[in-house]
Amino acid sequence: MAKVGNRQYKTLVCTECHEENYRVEKNVRNTTDRLELKKYCPRCRKHTTHKEKK
Ligand SMILES: [Zn+2]
Repeated sequence: MAKVGNRQYKTLVCTECHEENYRVEKNVRNTTDRLELKKYCPRCRKHTTHKEKK
């Protein structure tokens, strides 16, 4: 039987313009802290910090 419950889909939002740019699969078993990634934001047209949406 496949294990379920360890993965969640999270939305990453740009901290500068709050655009929802990325959706990531988060393994909540391995990653318990809030996601924070440097990603390219098309709206800001540069790399910004993207944080996991609450
Ligand atoms: Zn942005």
